[in-house]
Amino acid sequence: MNPVIQAAAFAAEKHRNQRRKDAHASPYINHPITLANVLANEGDVQDDAVLIAALLHDTIEDTQTTAAEIESLFGREVARIVEEVTDDKRLPKAERKRLQIEHTAHISTQAKLVKLADKIANLRDIAASPPADWSIERKREYFAWAREVVDQLRGVHPQLEAAFDQAWAMQAQIA
Ligand code: NDP
Ligand code: ZN
Repeated sequence: MNPVIQAAAFAAEKHRNQRRKDAHASPYINHPITLANVLANEGDVQDDAVLIAALLHDTIEDTQTTAAEIESLFGREVARIVEEVTDDKRLPKAERKRLQIEHTAHISTQAKLVKLADKIANLRDIAASPPADWSIERKREYFAWAREVVDQLRGVHPQLEAAFDQAWAMQAQIA
């Protein structure tokens, strides 16, 4: 049993009817796979728990998946990381965004890596294939917020932080 591949299959099944918000409505699963690829192949992260959590990072937030289900299949450590990067959807969006800034300094190193990869992926997506209806101002607001979140975790992985800063610099080209 290879648990990383198992997690990719599990996430693909959970997100099977979902699409990203870009104009072409890309399959949702592209996004968690991108996170795992950024971590493993740009960051040389070899901790399977981090790679698995990256593949599963949006399952609790955006599908019917529970932490107990993840724990039973992938273990307590993976379930804990996914929970650490899951927003409480009962709260209003602005509050969730504020809490990410507040909480990020206090989550585990493994969860910080997943969060950093998520922000890298989302900034690259907004630069290259943004949600169709987003104004320039909304894109800029997202870039500013993502940076506030990432500023709370700096020191965890300088190389991936540099990749984030490079993605952030693409803001100048946003039109
Ligand atoms: P959303 O939270 O609605 O969308 C951003 C999230 O969508 C990302 O974090 C990512 O989440 C996911 N996503 C899916 N597809 C893409 C894609 N192609 N590119 C990037 N991200 C994608 O939007 P906001 O972050 O703007 O949050 C809403 C906030 O914005 C609220 O606080 C609201 O008040 C405010 N707002 C501002 C407006 C404005 O014009 N300035 C208009 C409306 C609301 P993940 O990685 O988790 O999947
Ligand atoms: Zn995500």
